Amino acid sequence: MVRTDYVIDEMISAKAIAARIEALSHLIKAEFSDTSKLVVVGLLRGSFVFIADLVRELDLPVEVDFLEASSYGDGMTSSREVRILKDLRGEISGRDVLVVEDIVDTGHTLARVSEYLGTRTPARLRTIALLDKPARREVDFKADWIGFEIPDEFVVGYGIDYAQRNRNLPFIGKVRFTGEG
Ligand code: 5GP
Ligand code: MG
Ligand code: MG
Repeated sequence: MVRTDYVIDEMISAKAIAARIEALSHLIKAEFSDTSKLVVVGLLRGSFVFIADLVRELDLPVEVDFLEASSYGDGMTSSREVRILKDLRGEISGRDVLVVEDIVDTGHTLARVSEYLGTRTPARLRTIALLDKPARREVDFKADWIGFEIPDEFVVGYGIDYAQRNRNLPFIGKVRFTGEG
């Protein structure tokens, strides 16, 4: 059931996100300094704001592609079965690939997507997630780079939704139900 009785408490400011992305971009540039072309793969839809800001900090030869995996739907609980709903448009065999995700929660999505893309023999396959909830992990998966570790709270904003709303908030906020309405 989709609830409407909630307020959003800011957890990570737009300024803190920008500063963190700037710092991460240096690590990514160091890793891929020798690349002739980096394919940056955003996982739809939650990563669309993060990938937009991230690629603008990378002065590397970059291509952008997208992949959509099944996720939360409109609810707040994770599905353990991950399906590929929309595949990449481009080839990644022999290429350097950076997969960009919004949140690592149970770990099923990024673990499965990494395995799936790994079968196409990319030269290097790395993963980055803006947020990580280590307390929720169900599979042994660790992204190569993480923006922020957060507690087990349901968050929205900066591309991340609750029932398709709130993606356009410039900050990350925590959903707090009020029990009113
Ligand atoms: P995992 O497969 O790691 O359990 O789930 C990852 C996906 O669950 C994320 O890409 C995201 O779509 C969704 N997710 C996990 N935590 C949250 C959250 O706090 N808020 C929202 N809106 N989605 C979340
Ligand atoms: Mg997602
Ligand atoms: Mg979602």
